[in-house]
Amino acid sequence: MEIINPYKQTGFWLKGSFHNHTDNSDGWFPLETVYKMYGGYDFLGISDHDKITKHEGKMEIPTVFEAIEVSSRQTHMLLVQPPHIIMEGYSNEFTIENYQRFVDLTVQNGGFAVLVHPNRYFSNYWNLEDMLKMERYLGVEVYNGDGNPEYDIAFDKWDALLSAGRKVWGFGNDDSHVYGQEKQAWNVVKATENTNEAIIDAIKEGNFYVSTGYGFDAIRVEGDTVVADLRSNELLDKMYKYVTFFGKDGQVLQETTGRIKQAKYECKGDEGYVRIAVYLEGGYSAFSQPLFVEK
Ligand SMILES: [Zn+2]
Ligand SMILES: [Zn+2]
Repeated sequence: MEIINPYKQTGFWLKGSFHNHTDNSDGWFPLETVYKMYGGYDFLGISDHDKITKHEGKMEIPTVFEAIEVSSRQTHMLLVQPPHIIMEGYSNEFTIENYQRFVDLTVQNGGFAVLVHPNRYFSNYWNLEDMLKMERYLGVEVYNGDGNPEYDIAFDKWDALLSAGRKVWGFGNDDSHVYGQEKQAWNVVKATENTNEAIIDAIKEGNFYVSTGYGFDAIRVEGDTVVADLRSNELLDKMYKYVTFFGKDGQVLQETTGRIKQAKYECKGDEGYVRIAVYLEGGYSAFSQPLFVEK
């Protein structure tokens, strides 16, 4: 059995969100205010609807990403580091062909694509069939901080794609438009340095997890065992934790609870993949990427 661990590469953990709006589309605030709202983040992407907002002016965030949210009436897709050439004759019309072209041009430019808020059934969402028709996108937004718990999480669609053999990563973003939506969900990336290139390299490898406040110190493989070292210090170690290991079709492989700082799962070989969700009492959470299990 082989367990493919995306968390192998060493580095240090950086925090950021790729999907946020300004008043260049339907956000409430100008770019300068959005930078201030995200003070303390290591990196930030601005992804206005159907527009690439240029980064400019005073900012204290060390690394910023150009992005765009391709926003048809049906589905939305985030492109991080898209080439500006996509704006020539731009159309947000949702066809697999049009969206796939955006994915491919962005990948050629060194960036990546994420299918966002796929379960937002009241407005813009993705059918699983269309997600399966699309190729070469890097991931799915499994946690959107917009604030509708019934619509803005999509672990079900992620498990469906993974179980269909698609290697796609889970992302967490605020999709912030208005005051109060900032700093709800983010990505914690283990990069070699805080640069656009190093962050994108780590993201492409899957060397990141989604957080709403809790985290992992490390995710390791020892023989056939997946080991999650939960974020640990003297204060956190006193708190109760709930750790769930999920496999193919979203089945629960194991649950471990207690005032623990580590949880382990021994693979049997038929899991397909193992992903880990951890909750700290109070509700702060962290969600790992899948570790693919190959026979
Ligand atoms: Zn959207
Ligand atoms: Zn958005």
